[in-house]
Amino acid sequence: MTDTTDIAALQRPTRKNYDWSKAVWTDCDHCGEAHTGTVLADDGARICAGCCDAEYFSAWEDLVERAIQLLEAELQTHHEGGNMTRLNRLLSYLKPVTPKGEKR
Ligand SMILES: [Zn+2]
Repeated sequence: MTDTTDIAALQRPTRKNYDWSKAVWTDCDHCGEAHTGTVLADDGARICAGCCDAEYFSAWEDLVERAIQLLEAELQTHHEGGNMTRLNRLLSYLKPVTPKGEKR
């Protein structure tokens, strides 16, 4: 877990700062819907606020998934020695929780 590659993989995503005062009412190139406010993204495409939020959220999801994998690997590595109760409890908090009324 102390491998530098792993640490680099766990960089926190940063929210892109767009100038929303320059937003224009047009189709979003990401979701394809017309929005009152779209801005020009880094890739040259128009992006709406909803897609910006979705992008940022999914970057965090990816980070958490990687963190869980690393913690699970760490747990496997140190399974033999020491009390891993705290790490197990932490992992259980990070596992996906099925919302009430939803079936997986
Ligand atoms: Zn969009």
